[in-house]
Amino acid sequence: MRKKIVAGNWKMNKSFQEAEELISVIAEELDEKELDCDVVVCPPAVYLEMISDYAEESGLSVAAQNVSAHDNGAYTGEISAYMLNSMNIEYSIVGHSERRTYFNETNADLAKKVDMLLENNMKPIFCIGELLDQREENVHFDIVKQQMEEGLFHLNEDEFSNVVVAYEPVWAIGTGVVATPEQAQEMHNYIRLLISEKYTNEIADQTTILYGGSCNAQNAATLFANEDVDGGLIGGASLKPDDFVKIVMSF
Ligand code: PEP
Repeated sequence: MRKKIVAGNWKMNKSFQEAEELISVIAEELDEKELDCDVVVCPPAVYLEMISDYAEESGLSVAAQNVSAHDNGAYTGEISAYMLNSMNIEYSIVGHSERRTYFNETNADLAKKVDMLLENNMKPIFCIGELLDQREENVHFDIVKQQMEEGLFHLNEDEFSNVVVAYEPVWAIGTGVVATPEQAQEMHNYIRLLISEKYTNEIADQTTILYGGSCNAQNAATLFANEDVDGGLIGGASLKPDDFVKIVMSF
């Protein structure tokens, strides 16, 4: 059976003390529960070490929010996959729509980041998704196909089996407008079809595909009930410990 995952993307939020408070409440609340999914916390890079210490004790996994497309060396301000792996960080988000939009990251840049992560034994959480006008123009399937082809489909089967895909329609991120369960299922099913055509049915079946975009404690269960929705990448609601724990318990 493929892995179910709920990942909390904290983005650029919280002081060190606030982040410590947030992780300790999440860890404490989850500690008392039997979980049907893996939980991944994606804090700002400066808090990775502190969060890792909590995560290790409570069986949570940790992800960076971004990684350099470069190896090591003279890239001031960048953080390499080599560094993250040396701190036992398991995942990194790649290609979040905010990075594509505000930092002009292209599919070609993202393919390099994916390679860096895999070369350093890490797992990418690779974000894809269309803009509102692209959905309105009915090209959303083409956009997602292009993002998969240009960002991921250079990988061989072994490499691809370490990738988590996150479908995040950009019009749903941080807007309060969530995709309907039907829209999410339709696109997740399409993504799985693309993977089976490129690789094998078995690999497609094993690939975890997360939904992201205004997923919250109220709507998570109806989204996660869909056959091809294997969990969520959660932004705003991951900053509220009770809501995040409710989402984790939504399977
Ligand atoms: C995200 O940024 O990945 C996200 C899904 O945000 P939100 O849940 O706030 O829409």
